[in-house]
Amino acid sequence: MSSLLEIKNLSIDLHADREKFNVINNINLTIDKRQKYGIVGESGSGKSLTSLSIMNLLPDALAISSGDIIFNGETDLTTLSKKEFLDIRGNEISMIFQEPMTALDPLYPIEHQIMEVLKFHGSYNKKQMRQLAVEMLEKVGIPRPHQLMKEYPHQLSGGMRQRIMIAIALICNPKLLIADEPTTALDVTIQAQILDLMNELTDNYDTSILMITHDLGVIAETCERVAVMYSGEIVEEAAVTTLFKNPTHPYTVGLLESVKSLGDKSNELYSIPGNVPTPKQLTAGCRFASRCPHAMEICRSQAPPLFSIDADHKSKCWLYGKEEVVNG
Ligand code: SF4
Ligand code: MG
Repeated sequence: MSSLLEIKNLSIDLHADREKFNVINNINLTIDKRQKYGIVGESGSGKSLTSLSIMNLLPDALAISSGDIIFNGETDLTTLSKKEFLDIRGNEISMIFQEPMTALDPLYPIEHQIMEVLKFHGSYNKKQMRQLAVEMLEKVGIPRPHQLMKEYPHQLSGGMRQRIMIAIALICNPKLLIADEPTTALDVTIQAQILDLMNELTDNYDTSILMITHDLGVIAETCERVAVMYSGEIVEEAAVTTLFKNPTHPYTVGLLESVKSLGDKSNELYSIPGNVPTPKQLTAGCRFASRCPHAMEICRSQAPPLFSIDADHKSKCWLYGKEEVVNG
């Protein structure tokens, strides 16, 4: 497989009070063509910032301090101007969010919102655009699409709105779909339907997915590979089956424990004690040390590199201090 998106040594700083604070520290990941890749972590881990940096949508106080984001083997997205990025966003790379109400415009009917994307990225007449919109709405499982096109976002359920967002995201046949907590606001049955729909459509369209979530269940349902993020760093990276069978980083082990305890009624709900450090609280050493049950002397003074567990599995922890992954 060849790679579609390569994030290389990406770091992002927060500029506040005339100081800089690191929020993303030297992350590397590669998403192959047609691959479903997940980033999992608690809120504050930096997973959403990573996706916003790909989309050139970082808030003003944040800036990339180093690194490249190579799309399709050629374009470095970090070097594009806002204007150049308009051709890519919604066309080559699309994004869906947790709350579709924030992405849909309450003032316009659905028809207008779907056709806007086609108008911007294609050269169709009105009749063709309407036809494409109806076909896409059928593909995302919307009954009576002609009628729905005349409705406004607030008239629809959360599940329907997310289907429409998926239709808008896929209508230009993007190479990459970034989905940031796409099902978190939905109830469990609808959540499963939306994940199935995304899986099926991205297979049909040969679209890669970058799934951003706090929920390991969503990763298990949709992804082939996964990066676990903690405090702005990738702390473990592996195939999804490997991560579930053989988690190595103490943070990953903690995350999996908390999922297991959800399914086990005899147990107290397990959660990892302590909080993610804020950017202002970071010290030398492993960023997980204050919460880690295995912390050693070295952990408090020296940050661990990413070590190779095997060819396809990496862990940023001194417990595995054998072979360091260069640029991994
Ligand atoms: Fe825990 Fe040390 Fe590993 Fe950090 S490097 S996760 S503190 S054992
Ligand atoms: Mg988020």
